[in-house]
Amino acid sequence: MSEQTACGECGMLIEAGEYHPYIACLAFKQCRDGDMVRVNLRGLRYRAQREEREACAKVCENLRFTELGPTLEAKHQRNLCAQAIRQREGA
Ligand SMILES: [Zn+2]
Repeated sequence: MSEQTACGECGMLIEAGEYHPYIACLAFKQCRDGDMVRVNLRGLRYRAQREEREACAKVCENLRFTELGPTLEAKHQRNLCAQAIRQREGA
């Protein structure tokens, strides 16, 4: 087991470095169940990442960024397409 500390806001026991945004505090205050809060957070994070990748894939497709890398997945993970877009826009 790694070290746990209680969140100063909601009192939920969290591990060192654990993802614990304010929305987790709100959820814990409601349900008082740390495991349930973690499960819900995982779902939230996963959905956000997927939506980001899908939006990104669409942009890449539109701009035909085929020169960027071997696989789409690798590009999105390293955010190369976003960098390339910024360069093209001169920002
Ligand atoms: Zn908290």
